[in-house]
Amino acid sequence: MEPLAKPQARAETYRNLINGRWVTSSSTRSVRNLNPADTTEVLGVVPLSTGQDVEAAVRAAQEALEGWRETPAPQRGQIVARAAQLLTARKEEVARALTREEGKTVSESLGEVLKSINVLDYMAGEGRRLAGETLPSELTNNFCYTIRQPLGVVAVITPWNFPVCIPCWKIAPALVGGNTVIFKPSTLTPWTATLLVEIFTEAGVPPGVLSLVIGSGGTVGEALVNHPLVRAVSFTGSNEIGSELYHRGARRQIKVQCEMGGKNPLVVLEDADLELAVESTAQGAFGSTGQRCTATSRAVVVESIANRFVDALLQRIRKIRVGNGLDKSVEMGPSVDKSQMETVLRYIDIGKEEGAQLRCGGHRLEDPPYDRGYFVAPTLFDYVQPSMRIAQEEIFGPVLSVIRVRDFDEALAVANGVKYGLSSSLYTNDASKIFKFIERIETGVTHVNSPTTGGEAHLPFGGVKATGVGLREMGRTAMEFYTELKTVYIDYTGQKRTTFLY
Ligand code: NAP
Repeated sequence: MEPLAKPQARAETYRNLINGRWVTSSSTRSVRNLNPADTTEVLGVVPLSTGQDVEAAVRAAQEALEGWRETPAPQRGQIVARAAQLLTARKEEVARALTREEGKTVSESLGEVLKSINVLDYMAGEGRRLAGETLPSELTNNFCYTIRQPLGVVAVITPWNFPVCIPCWKIAPALVGGNTVIFKPSTLTPWTATLLVEIFTEAGVPPGVLSLVIGSGGTVGEALVNHPLVRAVSFTGSNEIGSELYHRGARRQIKVQCEMGGKNPLVVLEDADLELAVESTAQGAFGSTGQRCTATSRAVVVESIANRFVDALLQRIRKIRVGNGLDKSVEMGPSVDKSQMETVLRYIDIGKEEGAQLRCGGHRLEDPPYDRGYFVAPTLFDYVQPSMRIAQEEIFGPVLSVIRVRDFDEALAVANGVKYGLSSSLYTNDASKIFKFIERIETGVTHVNSPTTGGEAHLPFGGVKATGVGLREMGRTAMEFYTELKTVYIDYTGQKRTTFLY
């Protein structure tokens, strides 16, 4: 293990939470947690936990299950409500840790933390709304109804790009639903994961009910997905990993929810408010360094206004201040790590080779102080053809493709012409086109005259096509994934029946 260049006051080696105790991983292998804006800053040491750690966590979760499922759902919700209060009290601390660990600007981090608080608040209330329904019976003196019950031990596997909010929108409904949870965060964001689990624990989640196991997907993730006591997996991440997990889950007949990549279009029609469309595109494409599943990665613009749109957008992009997200004047941070930055640079090369017109950016920022981090200049390609790889594949960085089209029908066809289906957006005031777009666009979320990004805690979130399988996250639908429905028939006739249901 490499020595720490700059030891932090916080725990230098992150620990797992198993059976209510913070314990050192059984592994001797580790990697360093680096600040992507300044890689000379070592935030901590990330243990690459083992199957043995997973086994201990799953056993504890199984043992805790009985007591937790018997805890009344409103009480489970109250613990989550307390976590919301504790996160509120620590919001600045968590936001700064998030910026140092993941790279997004501190105002973006605070936005993520505030959204997480909303998610916890909303999910806490689900403890009082965990309802089935009563239904009429075909027979006299029969009472039929449904109840929602926990699944058992649930694995939550999350990516690095929203390391506070995504775990909250999975862990909170899982707990309120009466499940016990093993949380495996990305190895790139163990610090924020630790803070979050600290908060849940302090809020009163009993030992074993929530465990944290830090380690690689290949070891910890796989051990969880394959463990016979794990009854459901909620995964957010790449298509490559998600589709493999989905197959494995299907073979074991367990519930699997996968939210994966996006290639989100923002369509601009002739009558659009151009200033608004430009600002939304800039924020959607370069906010969070383009590292959002809902990031705007394709601006699909009708030819008649495309020159004006691109010129205004270029002016806006030139104003984006790139740098360390802790500096409040910075608008865009770095890529999360070297590998992600290299992926982005590789796609920029592909765009050039494919013949797209590079209008700005297109390179790594290497002069001091950028040389200490993974910074890529905000990049815009114009005259991108819909079939080009940069228009088809998820880049997950600050790269926007402008695709010029003749009219609305072509825009809709181009917008739908990718394998992904997470979010989309349309800029126009033409009501007939708005409703046709809402009807025909193949995405799980769509926006009219607002950016492709963003979502609210009480509204369902998720994608279609290659982006998502399983039930929607957030909103009321969240509880559908984390509970099993049981149908109950009660005969209170008091006499022997001669006819039975077929
Ligand atoms: P990733 O590489 O697929 O990793 C996601 C999680 O899966 C990480 O915790 C990872 O662990 C783990 N993992 C890796 N291999 C595994 C395996 N064999 N078995 C079980 N788990 C395994 O994705 P990422 O790079 O972290 O995140 C970026 C992706 O997430 C993008 O594609 C983005 O679009 C997507 N995303 C989607 C949404 C949505 O709601 N649709 C939201 C946010 C992000 P380690 O990396 O620690 O090894």
